[in-house]
Amino acid sequence: MQGTDFPIAIIGAGFAGIGAAIQLEKAGIESFTIFERADEVGGTWRDNTYPGAACDVPSHVYSLSFEQNPDWSQRYAPSWEIQDYLLRVVDKWKLRERMRLNTEIVAARFDEGAGVWNLTTNQGDEFRARVVLAGVGGLVDPAYPDIPGLEDFQGDTMHTARWNHDVDLGGKRVSVIGTGASAVQVVPSIAPIATLLTVFQRTPAWVVAKFDAFYPKWIKRLLRRFPFFLRASRFVKYWISELRGPIVFYNSRLLSLIGVALSKWNLRRQVEDPALRKKLTPSFQFGCKRVLVSDDYWATFERDDVELVTEAIERIETKGIRTKDGSLHEADAIVLATGFKVGLATAPFPIVGRNGRTLDDAWAGGAVAYKGMTVSGFPNWFIMMGPNTGPGHTSVLVYTEAQIAHAVQAIRKLQREGLKYLDIRQDVQDRYNESIQRRMKHMVWSGCKSWYLDADGSNHSLYPGFAAEYVLRTRRLDPRDYEIGRFAEDPAEHDSRPLLTTQ
Ligand code: NAP
Repeated sequence: MQGTDFPIAIIGAGFAGIGAAIQLEKAGIESFTIFERADEVGGTWRDNTYPGAACDVPSHVYSLSFEQNPDWSQRYAPSWEIQDYLLRVVDKWKLRERMRLNTEIVAARFDEGAGVWNLTTNQGDEFRARVVLAGVGGLVDPAYPDIPGLEDFQGDTMHTARWNHDVDLGGKRVSVIGTGASAVQVVPSIAPIATLLTVFQRTPAWVVAKFDAFYPKWIKRLLRRFPFFLRASRFVKYWISELRGPIVFYNSRLLSLIGVALSKWNLRRQVEDPALRKKLTPSFQFGCKRVLVSDDYWATFERDDVELVTEAIERIETKGIRTKDGSLHEADAIVLATGFKVGLATAPFPIVGRNGRTLDDAWAGGAVAYKGMTVSGFPNWFIMMGPNTGPGHTSVLVYTEAQIAHAVQAIRKLQREGLKYLDIRQDVQDRYNESIQRRMKHMVWSGCKSWYLDADGSNHSLYPGFAAEYVLRTRRLDPRDYEIGRFAEDPAEHDSRPLLTTQ
């Protein structure tokens, strides 16, 4: 099981899994297999294909630093273009050869004697890996709202994250429930084709200007010819987002006023009607929920064929949506822009670590991991986009790349020194998470309800600080932080079963 015989399982073929595979290749480690439950790679960008779906972080930053793309059509690339980019990267690195699509890992159990993770697939196969890199994403499965009568509706119903492209919304009365990051993109995109668009707002959001723009051909040519300019563009955009960060994440009335001023300016330039402006203005502190970016979301409500409903929803009936004031808002289609079941707080499937302890048990009091990556008692298991690693202000990929680099360092150490495992020490993990939760007190997120928070109000989703600081903190793997497992001297004790058993 040592030496070159070092199987690695990457779970998920989204940005994290693909990025990890490339970095392993670059490190000369080719013994990995990527497991993807869907029939194609791409994760978020494969699944979110609703009209208007795009990244709300500039694409020069929201792309892999080691696979920069000079050809983005605009500052904020649409979803299909990001998916195309990922497909290109996968082909370039020939990752399909090491990929098992339609293969879901449904259970994992650590065999401490062998220093091996036994992974079970949905097809009943067993895969034995020395190291697991879990890149399953945090916002994957759609959250369907718990509104009575949803299934009684006789028109078409679809969630933004599972768009039904067979349904033509042209000429239809469409109702959208939700006003979050997905809604601000889908609403302006379907307003021009629907005969009537009714948007049901429970909580208005702070929206700042996007200043989106297409890149002219000459700029793309320049970026292609001189990669320095592409790197410079990334650098500048990254640092702009970092420097703006405190406005979005610190619990400071003064900083918050800057955000509010920017957002109110955006509202004034898009909406003239003061009564409408009032309805669209949030009452919670700037940054508490995700700050949205759009140049046209608010302006959409100025259209005669778009209606904003702020009355609470009572139930859904066969013909439309009934609000608490008794009105029935008839519709031919309902779009649920109601977000995701946040997968950060629970194990994605049963994961059993050392001494038979499950990850759900370990996370009973909230999801915690050392630097968001490793959990004590779950050796050689590296999480990408794990607890407290989400940003509210910049590209999540900056964090993901830091996690990948850290995992590659660990793998190299395991291989180089022939170690059985690295298991983060419980005291180190506890100290780290105490410091994270202490810092949370200075952040803005606890003042309102959002997917950032667990049911008890604690935040195990976001990183309370700058991305640059996270990158610095994760740069060096310190072996003293880990309990090191070693193989027995007697080779007879080594596990010699095949690494992949297909039943
Ligand atoms: P979200 O931010 O969770 O928004 C869900 C919306 O649905 C909220 O307005 C919520 O209202 C509303 N809602 C939920 N249940 C409801 C109910 N029963 N009745 C009425 N309204 C209800 O979801 P999202 O917009 O899909 O965004 C989720 C996250 O995905 C974002 O924060 C972001 O991280 C990511 N995202 C990123 C991009 C991107 O461009 N990078 C694009 C889309 C999404 P309340 O606010 O009152 O709860």
